[in-house]
Amino acid sequence: MTLLIYDNIFLQHDTGYGHPENAKRLENTVKYLRSSGCWDELRVERPRAASVKEIGLVHPQTYIETIKQTANTCGGWLDGDTIVSGASYDAAVHAAGAPLTAIDLIMKGEDKNGFCLVRPPGHHATPARGMGFCLFNNVAIAAKYLQLKYHLEKILIVDWDVHHGNGTQDAFYNDPTVLYFSMHRYPFYPGSGRKEEDGQGKGKGFNINMPLSLDTMPDRYIEIFTDVIEQRVNQFVPEFIIISAGFDIYKKDPIGGLNMEIKDFGTLTEIVMKSAERHCNGRIVSCLEGGYHLSDLPLCIEAHLKALFQV
Ligand SMILES: [Zn+2]
Repeated sequence: MTLLIYDNIFLQHDTGYGHPENAKRLENTVKYLRSSGCWDELRVERPRAASVKEIGLVHPQTYIETIKQTANTCGGWLDGDTIVSGASYDAAVHAAGAPLTAIDLIMKGEDKNGFCLVRPPGHHATPARGMGFCLFNNVAIAAKYLQLKYHLEKILIVDWDVHHGNGTQDAFYNDPTVLYFSMHRYPFYPGSGRKEEDGQGKGKGFNINMPLSLDTMPDRYIEIFTDVIEQRVNQFVPEFIIISAGFDIYKKDPIGGLNMEIKDFGTLTEIVMKSAERHCNGRIVSCLEGGYHLSDLPLCIEAHLKALFQV
């Protein structure tokens, strides 16, 4: 079955009035998936909390402690966009724990793939610094966890969020064992993500950025995406695939937006699944990153989930 990892704890991360990354994103999604019947086709599980040691696979203890202390002392802002509220530490350790929960079930062979419906998102969080609505880098922690606990050597992270995942890039920039592939609008927040940023030292060639102009249409997007998966990824031969699933490439997204339609999320998912079938027994864990269109985000997520079912 396809797993859905979710907990109401994610609604407690309070970003304040008018913030685009708010609890309604998840509330609306849960409500819609229940009414459309999609919820009943999923195996829904609650996430465990990631331990400080697990989060420490990516983030230094001092940073983890700062987030915890900030939450315990009435909260505060990490940058102009990124807030830590009283419940944010608890939400964030569960957001980081969600892919770990999914990984454990998938590695046991109970399920083939899963989606983590979480917030706060993660891909902008660098090892030492939270930013861009992100506190802990959920997908980076998951990749490290797969290597440490399950001794997998090669992990692929596919990031189709409209923003470049600078935090994930930073975490693995020197590392040839984690292939990071990002498609994103450029120039755009957070400013990184040029093609020339392709890794360093042993990691050279294991960081693939595909910057796209705002006028990139879905056909072209899918063509580039397919080319990278078929050429570069098939060469890499991943043992597990993690998706940073941002739905802010959707054409009506209020803060991102490329030109993607709802159905395109199904197509992108199928392309990744084909690669996963070929290389790693279909094993995929997908984590929610961005996606801010409050009424259509649930439909975009449903298109992603319906593709994941087809195994
Ligand atoms: Zn984004």
